[in-house]
Amino acid sequence: MALRRLLSLAGAAALIAVASGPAHSDPGDDTPVTWQITGVTLDALAGLTADGYDVVRYHDGDAVVLGDSRVADRLRADGFTPSFHDTVYKDPAPVTTAADTYYGGYHTVDAHEAHLDQVAAAHPDLATVYDIGDSWLKTQGRGGHDIKAICLTRKTDGDCALSPDSAKPRFTVVAQIHAREVATGEIAWKWIDSLVNGYGTDPAVTTLMDTTEMWVVPIANPDGVDIVASGGDQPVLHRKNANDSDGSCVGVDLNRNSSFEWGADSSNPCAQTYQGPQAASEPEVTALEDLFRRIHPDQRGTNPTDPAPVDARDVFVSLHSYGDYIIVPWGYTEDTSPNDAALRGLGAAMAESNGYLVGTNGDTVGYSTSGTTDDMTYGELGVASFTFEIGDGGWGSCSGFLPAYDCVDSQLWPENRGALMTAAQAAAAPYAA
Ligand SMILES: [Zn+2]
Repeated sequence: MALRRLLSLAGAAALIAVASGPAHSDPGDDTPVTWQITGVTLDALAGLTADGYDVVRYHDGDAVVLGDSRVADRLRADGFTPSFHDTVYKDPAPVTTAADTYYGGYHTVDAHEAHLDQVAAAHPDLATVYDIGDSWLKTQGRGGHDIKAICLTRKTDGDCALSPDSAKPRFTVVAQIHAREVATGEIAWKWIDSLVNGYGTDPAVTTLMDTTEMWVVPIANPDGVDIVASGGDQPVLHRKNANDSDGSCVGVDLNRNSSFEWGADSSNPCAQTYQGPQAASEPEVTALEDLFRRIHPDQRGTNPTDPAPVDARDVFVSLHSYGDYIIVPWGYTEDTSPNDAALRGLGAAMAESNGYLVGTNGDTVGYSTSGTTDDMTYGELGVASFTFEIGDGGWGSCSGFLPAYDCVDSQLWPENRGALMTAAQAAAAPYAA
């Protein structure tokens, strides 16, 4: 749908820096930045996304769009008045020093794979690594990666088996399914380290590891992360996987391709939220869903109004950036889920650590999403499921998709460690509180 039919033409307007905004201004070249537009209705938002605009934030009619000066020109031609919002590449310029890192310290896929193997080798009593499937490029014989999961617990017989009837309840975290949301992979890395290093020294971690299995997929979209990291100190802002079979634009949005209630998101291969040609068409999604079905019992009925029973177990968190939100199901509908109160309750307990706003899509990001990972884990399996949007939505070096690396240690990990602990500690009875 053409935006011109949706919107009255506002005419071209001079670019005016927002007075309360950032210190920096648009570099005016091909460098991507964010642009703010106002007066955007939900219909117009859907039109923007369908037309291939990269809308990264939306709240009360204000939208933030990612792109270079040509994108701003397109917005003006479509009747909007974009104003410069913030830089994407943060200042001061990061300096990449360590091997297998980019943009000041973010770890490459190879580094994450080596990290999992190192953890398992150093802590055979605490960690088990699985290859859960292939990335899209690997399925094509064009490089790519195995997708890796790690199970962390004080292992006794039968623990960390690929079977849903485990003795211990389970807490699962998935990160960097959206490749450019780089802080999420680092949070997963630090979560893994905190569990193995804290066992025997931190009483809360020790108790958790004795009673619960923590599963982590730190890089759910390795092909996409390779694309991001290829930019080095100016990471490529790639969100989707590397599926180029469409021939025009690269990638399917792996957080719109899940099998539960798939099909109401974008069918435009050039949209950032392209849902793919069919439910679970992408190998990364089938790898994740196969894992979820093998480690979490099916606890919920098939009717949308069937609640997970009060004694259901297991918790799932999908890590994304950004906005400082903890989002509860549903994504595909504005109806609240049949476990809404309990999910919000556990979300509020997690928010005691990170201070994030807890709510549904409508309460937080402001738009619906279909085919998301957490709708599948909750909707199909009854696992208490959440999406974290890590990183503040304002301005500055710790906001956006590419926070300066020191923000991970100074802010993003400290505020989320407790939230993940709370989630894991609730795995035995997430709906019972
Ligand atoms: Zn995301």
